[in-house]
Amino acid sequence: MIDQPYAYQRRELTEPDWRRFPGWAGVTGAQWESAQWQRAHCVKNLRQLREVAGPGLSDAFCADLERDQRERATMSMLVPPQMLNTMVPAAGPGEPGFTDAFYADPVRRYMIPVFSDRRTDWPSHPYAARDSLHEAEMWAVEGLTHRYPTKVLAELLPTCPQYCGHCTRMDLVGNATPTIAKHKFGLGRDDRLAAMIAYLRATPGVRDVVVSGGDVANLPWPRLEAFVADLLDVGSIRDIRLASKALMGLPQHWLGDEVRAGMERLGARARERGVSIAIHTHVNAAQSVTPLVARAAQAMLDTGIRDVRNQGVLLRGVNDSPEALLDLSFALLDDAKIMPYYLYMCDMIPGSEHWRLSLAEAQHLQHRIMGYLPGFATPRIVCDVPYVGKRWVHQVSRYDTDLGISYWTKNYRTGIEASDELALSREYPYYDPIYVLPESGQQWWRDRDRDRSPELTLVP
Ligand code: SF4
Repeated sequence: MIDQPYAYQRRELTEPDWRRFPGWAGVTGAQWESAQWQRAHCVKNLRQLREVAGPGLSDAFCADLERDQRERATMSMLVPPQMLNTMVPAAGPGEPGFTDAFYADPVRRYMIPVFSDRRTDWPSHPYAARDSLHEAEMWAVEGLTHRYPTKVLAELLPTCPQYCGHCTRMDLVGNATPTIAKHKFGLGRDDRLAAMIAYLRATPGVRDVVVSGGDVANLPWPRLEAFVADLLDVGSIRDIRLASKALMGLPQHWLGDEVRAGMERLGARARERGVSIAIHTHVNAAQSVTPLVARAAQAMLDTGIRDVRNQGVLLRGVNDSPEALLDLSFALLDDAKIMPYYLYMCDMIPGSEHWRLSLAEAQHLQHRIMGYLPGFATPRIVCDVPYVGKRWVHQVSRYDTDLGISYWTKNYRTGIEASDELALSREYPYYDPIYVLPESGQQWWRDRDRDRSPELTLVP
C-alpha cells in the first residue's frame, strides 16, 4: 500500500443520537422524522439553544453568542434540530469539554457564529458589500437575476428553513438583525412569479433556470410545483435546478409524501419534455451527511430527476483542508449519491473576513484534492467575482499577492453591460482577506483606509 497524503476510507453514515441533548431526551423517532416537528422545534434564539443544550453549554459561550447577535450578525438564528444534532455528534452537553468541542465544531462555526469567531482587526473587507454579487442590479424583473447569457436565477422567496451565518444573500434573505435591515420585495409573491414566467416566455435565449430563494423548501408545495410546471411549459427551457439546503438541513421536508408525489409528477413531465430537473443542495461538512440526508437524496433520485448536486462554500475553520473537503466529497458521493459539484469561495459580505480564504489558499486546496475522486465528482473551487460571475480559481488573469488583489476577465455581457464597449476587456478585481497578506500589503491597506485616497479606485 502506498502512503498517500490523503487516505481514503469508506465511512458508514450515522445519525447522531439526538437524545444526548437534554431538551430532546424524550423525542421519539417518529417525531424526529416529521418535518412539522422539526420546523416547530427550530432553535431561533439563545433561550431555545439553552433549553435544548441544558447547563452543559457554558455561560461564556452564551454571552459570546449574544454579543455576536447584537453587534455583528448579518443573519438571524434559525437552526433545525436535524442540523444542531450534527454538531459535536459524539458527545452530549453533559460531558466534560462539551463547550470547547461546540466552539470547535465546523457546523457550529457557520450556523451559530459567535463574536470571538470574528476578526477584530478587519471584521469586514473595505470592499465588502451587501448584495456583493450585485444580483439586484441585474434583475430582469424583480427577483430574476439575468447575469449570464443563457441562464437565470429566480429568487422565489426570501426565507429558508435554516439561516447560515455567511449567507451571500444576507441583503434579502431572513429576518432583520440588530445591525442589518433586510431588503423587501416590492411586488407580491404571485405577481413576481408571474412576471418571471412572462419574461422567460419572451426570452428564448434562456435555457437554464436556477429556482432558488431563500430555499425552495419554504415555498408551499403547490405553489412551487405550479411554478416549475410553468417553466416546463416554456419550450426554450432545458435545465431546471431547484436550490435547497434543506435537503441536508431538513431532509424530513423532502421525504414528506406531498413533496415526493409532487416531485414524481414534475419528474415525469420533465422526462416527457426532455428537460433535466436537478436539486442543488448546500453541504459544507462531512458530518452533515447522515442516513436521513442520504434517504432524502435517494427519494429525489427515485422520482426520476436527473441529479442531486452539492454546492458547498469554502469556509475557514469549517472545511479549509484537503482532508475536510475530500471527506465531505466522499460522504456525499459514496452513500448519499449527491454529486460534489462546486465549492464557492465565501463572498465578500460584511463580517465574513474570518470565514474567507485567499485565492492562493483556494488554489492550493484545489490542487490538493485533485486525483482522489472521479473526475466528474471532483468539486471545482470557484470564485464568484462581482460583475463577472463564477470563475474557477485557476482562471485568474493577474494576481498581486502582496496586496491580495486578483484580476479577472469575462467573455460575456450581463444585461447591464449591453452597450459597454470595455465589458469584455476590462479587468475586474477580487480581494483576499487583509489579515492573511504579508505585512507590506497589510500596511498598504491600513494607509489606504486612513487616507481614503481617490486614485485607489480599483476597477479600471
Ligand atoms: S440556505 Fe442558502 S439562502 Fe438560506 S441562509 Fe443558507 S446560504 Fe442563505
